Amino acid sequence: MKKEIHPQYESARVTCACGETFETGSTKKDLRVEICSKCHPFFTGKQKFVDTSGRVDKFKKKYGM
Ligand SMILES: [Zn+2]
Repeated sequence: MKKEIHPQYESARVTCACGETFETGSTKKDLRVEICSKCHPFFTGKQKFVDTSGRVDKFKKKYGM
């Protein structure tokens, strides 16, 4: 039986519920999160907005992000 002593630890694409994507180090290639540093109230100080990417784009345009 072959065991992987060294799991591959490389960049993973993380997709947030708000539509934001970013890369992080993980043994998994694709990760999904419900909250990220871009939409978490702790980081933004604003109300959490979890919506479709279209709404997020409008939000970004509105605030010049
Ligand atoms: Zn997010």
